Amino acid sequence: MTPTMFIISIVVLAAAAYFFYNSMQRKTTAYTPSVDTATILTQNVSFYNNLTAENKTVFEARVKDFLSYVTVRGVDVEIDDTDRILVASGAIIPIFAFPDWRYNNISEVLLYKGTFSKEYNTDEGERNVLGMVGDGAMHREMILSKPSLRSSFSNDHYGHNTVIHEFAHLIDKADGATDGIPEYLLVNPCIIPWVSRIHDTINEMRRAQHSDINLYGATNDAEFFAVISEYFFERPTELKDKHPELYAMLQQMFTPTKK
Ligand SMILES: [Zn+2]
Repeated sequence: MTPTMFIISIVVLAAAAYFFYNSMQRKTTAYTPSVDTATILTQNVSFYNNLTAENKTVFEARVKDFLSYVTVRGVDVEIDDTDRILVASGAIIPIFAFPDWRYNNISEVLLYKGTFSKEYNTDEGERNVLGMVGDGAMHREMILSKPSLRSSFSNDHYGHNTVIHEFAHLIDKADGATDGIPEYLLVNPCIIPWVSRIHDTINEMRRAQHSDINLYGATNDAEFFAVISEYFFERPTELKDKHPELYAMLQQMFTPTKK
């Protein structure tokens, strides 16, 4: 090696070391494990923004608690704390009136890069599923498409909230049966009127093939409960106006303390 080549090698090595060190530094400083939950909630979650200051603090604590026992993980897609906080928000909104409620039927929420098939495939088959509560080996998992998670909390989602929909299924499932009758939210005498109300509405939807309620809700009682829960939390005024009886029953279920 000539002296010139030696000097060039040293310079190249020093430059490489410098860039390597710098990129490591950038990686370390870009990672912020503790984000300001309140800021993310304020920017994205209207339910949170409509709460009193005291209840906002409670909501934040419950979001953090949810994330302490449920892992949110991206599958072939990068996710960040906003994604985690939005999943937790969709979980907490429907059971916010129940301070002791913890989801004991889920351990993990998987975020997929897009829509997926019923066989959890993002590349093959009929990929039109936005969210799903897993069964069989996946029974403690929920799968959500990340774009659908984000659009559930954006301004242009037209009252659809896939996250609330899927957690409504878990609330329904908590009593052992996903049947549209969330027994933990319904006091006994209310069960029969609830079932007959949902059957009347489903029949009406099927007959007309048109409704302000998402027609997917007419699939069966369980889907009706999930779809109407989205409607209740996303467009309460419209629901109250168009289906006062249904609204009153849902209010009794989800916010039993409010009159
Ligand atoms: Zn569903």
